[in-house]
Amino acid sequence: MKNKKSYEVTIIGGGVCGCAIAYHLAKEGVKVALVEKGDICSAASGANLGFSVLSYRQNPITLKMAQDQLLVLRELSQELEIDIEYAESGGLIPITNQEELQVLSSMVDRCHEWGFKEIKIVNPQRANQQEPALDREKIIAAVYCPLEGILNPINLTIGFANAAKRNGADIYANSSVIGFEITNKRIKEIILPAEKIKTNLVISAAGAWTRELINMVGVDLPIYYERGEAMISSPVSRIIKGAVTDGILFTEASSIKSMIVGACLAQSASGGIILAQSTTEGEDYNIQNSPFGLSLVARRVLSFFPALKNLNIIRMWSGLVSFSEDKQPVFGFLDNPTNMFVVTGFHSTIGIASAIGNMVKEVYFREGSSYDVSAYSPLRFIKKSSALVKGDN
Ligand SMILES: Cc1cc2nc3c(=O)[nH]c(=O)nc-3n(C[C@H](O)[C@H](O)[C@H](O)COP(=O)(O)OP(=O)(O)OC[C@H]3O[C@@H](n4cnc5c(N)ncnc54)[C@H](O)[C@@H]3O)c2cc1C
Repeated sequence: MKNKKSYEVTIIGGGVCGCAIAYHLAKEGVKVALVEKGDICSAASGANLGFSVLSYRQNPITLKMAQDQLLVLRELSQELEIDIEYAESGGLIPITNQEELQVLSSMVDRCHEWGFKEIKIVNPQRANQQEPALDREKIIAAVYCPLEGILNPINLTIGFANAAKRNGADIYANSSVIGFEITNKRIKEIILPAEKIKTNLVISAAGAWTRELINMVGVDLPIYYERGEAMISSPVSRIIKGAVTDGILFTEASSIKSMIVGACLAQSASGGIILAQSTTEGEDYNIQNSPFGLSLVARRVLSFFPALKNLNIIRMWSGLVSFSEDKQPVFGFLDNPTNMFVVTGFHSTIGIASAIGNMVKEVYFREGSSYDVSAYSPLRFIKKSSALVKGDN
């Protein structure tokens, strides 16, 4: 029988979070395994639009992370030896009515209170300077943030994975974790379909599958997922400058039947126009597209950008994105087993993935964290559920 491989850290999930964590640990000489049930970047990280988001961060900590990451993103192509096609080309949120204006003015005020000043409400003329193809007659104002932008999320994720590999990480692709061997509250081995591997520490970066994975160690966390859909056109001459996110998405008016629909768009480095997004509740890990949702997206995009009417859509897709019960990130150790660390639920992860990888490295080396993420421990849910059980008795 062949000897079992042994690792200091095993990361489960080859999306942008898992690959960034693998890179940051391997770079410091940690013996790392990265296990992915499909191909690297085959789930949400390959389905997203690549917006590097600052404006609609869910808390001051991830906003600060996104701000600090700007310097990192500018250098990351060089560091990872792959062009991540990062363009700090600005982000715009078109506003069509007073309700959106009120909600988005509060969001801008909140960013200012959290110390981020490079964001403001602008008039339609200024919005049109950012996006000349936008029909300014359709809007009353816009949120503008010059520091937002877009990148290629597939190059970013694969770049982290390959850089981890160059630094000695072993990657187990098309290899699903199907169980764990646990002794004395510690995971000793991870069970894959064809073999078992030994490990000192397990990091769950399993995205939408987090709850299912954690259930395998006897723990239940209130982590859910939703399905986001998008599509892309064949390449056209440059017409969209930065990242555009529909203001309607910040109000109840975006709910149509059981979907949330709004116009988000950007133009990739190769010229395709990426259009999104219709979002529905996740169910049975279904990633079928719903032409109804995307047809509404297309109509909404055309209402703002009539010049896009002859786009040739060549591909549509969808992806599953995890979120926790309180919509805040989950980042920290479980208490039983004690050597499992959970990372998920960071909204708009692409722009902050490197910071997440670096924070895990800091935890591993007990360096103290660059950010106070103590509020995001998964134990907040476990304590709550055991308190409920006690109360029931
Ligand atoms: C349409 C759409 C548009 C989006 N647009 C943006 C955007 O513009 N900007 C942005 O920042 N974010 C965007 N997002 C969100 C972003 O994609 C996610 O926040 C991010 O990809 C999450 O990364 P992850 O590594 O946590 O998850 P994932 O990429 O889903 O990776 C998790 C991985 O774990 C693997 N896995 C699960 N269980 C197991 C197991 N048992 N064994 C082995 N492997 C396992 C899965 O196969 C998967 O590959 C968008 C998402 C969608 C769907």
